[in-house]
Amino acid sequence: MARIGFVGLGNMGGPMARNLLKAGHEVAAFDIAPAALDHAVGAGCARADSAAEAARGAEFVITMLPAGLHVRDAWLGAGGMAAASDPGAVLIDCSTIDVATARDVAAAAGRPMLDAPVSGGVMGAEAATLTFMVGGPEDAFARAEPILRAMGRTVVHCGGSGAGQAAKVCNNMMLAATMIVTAEAFVLAEKLGLSHQALFDVASKSSGQSWSLTTYCPVPGPVPGSPANRDYRPGFAASLMVKDLGLSQEAAATARVETPMGARALELYRRYVDQGGGGEDFSGIIRMLRGAD
Ligand code: NAD
Repeated sequence: MARIGFVGLGNMGGPMARNLLKAGHEVAAFDIAPAALDHAVGAGCARADSAAEAARGAEFVITMLPAGLHVRDAWLGAGGMAAASDPGAVLIDCSTIDVATARDVAAAAGRPMLDAPVSGGVMGAEAATLTFMVGGPEDAFARAEPILRAMGRTVVHCGGSGAGQAAKVCNNMMLAATMIVTAEAFVLAEKLGLSHQALFDVASKSSGQSWSLTTYCPVPGPVPGSPANRDYRPGFAASLMVKDLGLSQEAAATARVETPMGARALELYRRYVDQGGGGEDFSGIIRMLRGAD
């Protein structure tokens, strides 16, 4: 069993740290929010008084923070988690951040470091069924894999540093675009007098099939577990989709690649969030599309 430092105990990090405890690991936890830290300590984590203290003496040090600036600051800033960590430790950032920051921080950390963003949301974090997409050195990945498996069901080594974040932004760009076009198709079907169920029955067995249709169907009925059946409560909030689409557009600009569908998806999701949909599931964009005529 390993000694693990865990920093960032929010909606995702809290349950992930608890799953490490359940698997028998020792976890030293830190969060700047006292309530999040108290909750983790209540679950059995050791209380650390700073991020550096959580990192000290751990074999694996994990962060689950909101954005790139928090990740850079926590590892390399005045608090200096990277410098405080054991020279033999494996550092793992599970936050969703831009590819460039992930690569910079890993290069400056002075220890083997993995970017390991996740998909699966809060439910996946609680049930330990997350998918981890991992970038970084092969030997660090081999050491970290059993730790990640205590928090997730699927763990994929995607390549060198930044490859995990690259996989995450590419995947979510596809997801956003397929959700929008799926929602558009249902709105068009409504206008053409075609029932939701009939479109679902055909498209789910035809070339229009996608995860957005068969798992997250944006109209109530055909897929009972989809957020459409609970008034579009997330799920995966539209505000988080805007964040991820922003990261994919940043990556596309840096790589000088045109991604016109991704760019349009970002515009549409920004509009949806501006109209008050940020806290709704991202499939709720069908409401905006329906009203757009
Ligand atoms: P959250 O805001 O609930 O949690 C972030 C935590 O980090 C908070 O408790 C905050 O106090 C803490 N924090 C911030 N700065 C800190 C610092 N310098 N030191 C210590 N703690 C600090 O966010 P979340 O929903 O848990 O998401 C975390 C990351 O996971 C994000 O990058 C997000 O994009 C990604 N993600 C979220 C979901 C989801 O469904 N929520 C799904 C996949 C990926």
